[in-house]
Amino acid sequence: MKKILVIEDDQSIRKLVLKLLSKAGYEAIAAENGKKGVELARGEAPNLILCDIMMPELDGYGVLSTLQQDSTTAMIPFICLTAKDERATLRQVMQLGANDFLTKPFTRDELLSAIATQLNKYETIEIQKTKAVEEALAKFNNLVYFDSSTNIPNQLVLRDRFQQLLTSFNPSTQLVPVAVLSLDQFEQLNYSLGTDYCDLLLQAVVDRLMPYADGEGTVARLNTELLALILPPVSSREAAVAVARGIVETLEGSFTLVEHNVFITCSMGVALYPDEASDIDNLLKNAKAAMYRAKRKGGNSSQIYAKTIQEKSYDRLMLETGLRHAIDDNQLRLHYQPKVNILTGKVIGVEALVRWEHPERGLVSPAEFIPLAEETGLILPLDEWVLGAACKQADIWKKAGLHIPVAVNLSGRQFNQPGLSLRIINILESVGLDPSLLELELTESAVVQNPTVAIATLKKLKAIGISLSLDDFGTGYSSLSYLQQFPFDILKIDRCFVRNLTPDSKGAALISAILRMAESLNLKAIAEGVETEAELEMLRQNKCSIIQGYWFSPPLQPEALLDKLQAKIGNSLL
Ligand code: C2E
Ligand code: MG
Ligand code: MG
Repeated sequence: MKKILVIEDDQSIRKLVLKLLSKAGYEAIAAENGKKGVELARGEAPNLILCDIMMPELDGYGVLSTLQQDSTTAMIPFICLTAKDERATLRQVMQLGANDFLTKPFTRDELLSAIATQLNKYETIEIQKTKAVEEALAKFNNLVYFDSSTNIPNQLVLRDRFQQLLTSFNPSTQLVPVAVLSLDQFEQLNYSLGTDYCDLLLQAVVDRLMPYADGEGTVARLNTELLALILPPVSSREAAVAVARGIVETLEGSFTLVEHNVFITCSMGVALYPDEASDIDNLLKNAKAAMYRAKRKGGNSSQIYAKTIQEKSYDRLMLETGLRHAIDDNQLRLHYQPKVNILTGKVIGVEALVRWEHPERGLVSPAEFIPLAEETGLILPLDEWVLGAACKQADIWKKAGLHIPVAVNLSGRQFNQPGLSLRIINILESVGLDPSLLELELTESAVVQNPTVAIATLKKLKAIGISLSLDDFGTGYSSLSYLQQFPFDILKIDRCFVRNLTPDSKGAALISAILRMAESLNLKAIAEGVETEAELEMLRQNKCSIIQGYWFSPPLQPEALLDKLQAKIGNSLL
């Protein structure tokens, strides 16, 4: 049954309309003022809204413009109810994006026919939209799931397959070997025979590996020179050792391809699920560590990962100890990188990126200490510090007359802690910052761990007025059917899709598919890591208007950022 929300302060009209709608077979709900109407529109997700213009508290314009700013309510068909003498203002509402209007008093038939027209129109648009998303998705999957030069499945297939395998897996009796394999002569062959030849060789290698990955397993290309395998479950470590040995032997020997006869050997590392790690990223990391160990021992062999391989280096231990003091000793800094609209030249916000000013080592990059912080749990106080500091900075700018929304990265661990929204509210309140000036950036891996809880948390954060970005899009699970259920506002397209964009590249097709998809899902897209004029031009051609990257500015200290913004104001920026 279609649900219709009636927002009308006049009780008699409201009751009459509700009665008419129920009789006509609609589920009708009502609000007696605009504020309540907005709440109901958000909470009840009606199929259509009938809304009076003149109301106390929040009038029809207010309702419409509030709903339009929220991607979950922006598309709901909106019909205005107006009195005869409000004609002049009608134009304004229609311009704001209302779909139709009815002048009071209206007849039953007028009302029902206006509703039917809008519902039909909406349905047609929805069908078209779903079709567009599906098409874009199919194209995207095709492009993104296979390595274009060899047609070998890539990391995303590996991830999917791993998830699938876990559904039928018995942890008490089975182990899943995840392997990383490298050809010992790859670099040399690449140098002497070229990339195309190596692509062919890898294809032949994959063909030879296929029987091992049969059925439940898979072979994928991780990067130019590394292959990864998920092997069918085994019952013991010894069984895994035997399979690994078999693979190394199978590849040992000659391959004859395009007039060349090459001899290869390989090094392989294997990590066992669930013994060595519980997620694919750590399994791959551990398998890689084992593979390098095999290589260091002279190659043509395999190693099964054991926790001792990655004994903590002295350096790492020092870093870990240091990080524990970094927050208390005031060694953390935030740098801010602008996001800019290339059509208007305006800076629309900044991303806060943490830096560690190490007393001996100088600036340490987050790429180095964030993973360490995540492993040790120090990410929680760290993220909390970043949130507080970023909110304070946004407030300082606001008081100086600069309205700059600040985006903060939240680690998966922080996001999945109970009571997150409450802690964020506390921080916002203690600083006195308007929530609309805060954005949170989350990666796919943070939200897919527990989708139901994640959706509820995201909705809570959104209800506070905070914007939500999906960070590094394309590097995670990329399960796009998932995407639609998470109430994100912004899609940050990872730098790997932006890098080296040229008109005929596969990257250009991908970016265009992603942008189309973002548009049909009502998400604002931001391209990350834009460095060159050529990349910018490609983005411009694909109608991507918001970018972040060295082309415009690296992350800067607040003072330097202010200087930059002020310098640009002269050029009509901000
Ligand atoms: P991210 O959120 O995707 O941030 C963007 C990264 O790309 C930043 O690296 C930024 O300096 C870099 N970048 C920006 N423009 C360009 C460009 O044109 N070219 C290139 N090559 N790189 C560019 P950074 O600052 O090293 O941060 C790395 C990652 O560390 C971030 O990725 C984010 O995931 C994490 N991180 C940074 N600060 C925080 C934080 O406060 N909390 C948490 N939880 N994570 C953080
Ligand atoms: Mg980010
Ligand atoms: Mg990012």
